[in-house]
Amino acid sequence: MLKTIAGFDRIGEENAFAVLARATALAASGRDIINLGIGQPDFRTPEHIVEAAVKALRDGHHGYTPATGILPLREAVAADIHRRLGAEVSPERITIVPGGKVTMFMAILMFGEPGAEILYPDPGFPIYRSMIEFTGAKAVPVPIREENGFAFSADETLALITPATRLIIVNSPANPTGGVTPKAEIDKLVAGLARFPDVAIMSDEIYGQMVYDGEAHVSLLSYPEIRDRLILLDGWSKTYAMTGWRMGFSIWPDRLYEMARKLAVNSYSCVNAPAQFAGIAALTGPQDCVADMVAEFDRRRKVVVEGLNGLPDVTCATPKGAFYAFPNISKTGWKAKPLASALLEDAGVATIGGPDFGVYGEGYIRLSYANSTENILKALDRIRAFLERRN
Ligand code: PLP
Repeated sequence: MLKTIAGFDRIGEENAFAVLARATALAASGRDIINLGIGQPDFRTPEHIVEAAVKALRDGHHGYTPATGILPLREAVAADIHRRLGAEVSPERITIVPGGKVTMFMAILMFGEPGAEILYPDPGFPIYRSMIEFTGAKAVPVPIREENGFAFSADETLALITPATRLIIVNSPANPTGGVTPKAEIDKLVAGLARFPDVAIMSDEIYGQMVYDGEAHVSLLSYPEIRDRLILLDGWSKTYAMTGWRMGFSIWPDRLYEMARKLAVNSYSCVNAPAQFAGIAALTGPQDCVADMVAEFDRRRKVVVEGLNGLPDVTCATPKGAFYAFPNISKTGWKAKPLASALLEDAGVATIGGPDFGVYGEGYIRLSYANSTENILKALDRIRAFLERRN
């Protein structure tokens, strides 16, 4: 009998991938499926970025790179952060990682062990909890509430800190709710953290460029007082429609940087070289591709929110960021997971049940509006017909 570690009894996963597999299988069997489940832009990676990778391959960039990524890419990340957020970050604190997920994997490995506690948003990206529990640490949910505009509450977060707390994970703009936490609330969290100097913060800002209604993205990087304990997670997946390239970056405090480098050397060695050249082209090339994509998401956001609010017994708060709507379905008489499953099997619309993002996700389903307006309208019609038929 093979004796593997106990963590695998506790590790979870991302149900979005299971829904994608089911939706793909149904489509392959001839069903007409509209996929509002998966969280990835429906756009192609812009051509100049693809060309940069092709050129890198032709130019012979076929070997290992430094584990933390090639210097011109880390410099491009630093320049981009300065341009967007006004923050100064040394390329010596940036690591290029194979997708934003790897930053959370590393950060949670650095702080999680039995006896430790890690705070994470619930509903939130499911891998936070999964990885925390894998390490044996206690996963402590910070409730994210609709009545709060799906922003995290600084007071509630601070109140959950105990002497065992090692790491707090925050995410704004947020998956699955589209919530954006206002600056005043982030100010309050940062001010409160002064009382807990031994607690690290991981800020997942992968949707940082997807904000609407004139909101400005507030990065935790703007607070010098927590720089020595802040881990920033960001990347190319969402901003440049590059989910399959596996390109992310992390910014580490000095004392964690060497640990991150060693984890890279011990696992993936480096991110694939041509993708890193594509990453440079993305950051240094024209940015109108990002603005165009965000403007298109904004148009669809309005369509989806209006459509959802017109459905029987459904209400949907207007999401201020990312590309998700998180309608409240608690008055339909359905629990969220059976509803999501019935919508896929019966109505041919893939969505994700809120409980897949945590216990506080009951009563909601997540719809990704990374799909054409035509498909979104068709999906809304199907959901309406389904709810009317089954009520
Ligand atoms: N963080 C959040 C909140 C996400 O929603 C996702 C992807 O869905 C990630 C991180 C991971 O991004 P990547 O595909 O770059 O690993």
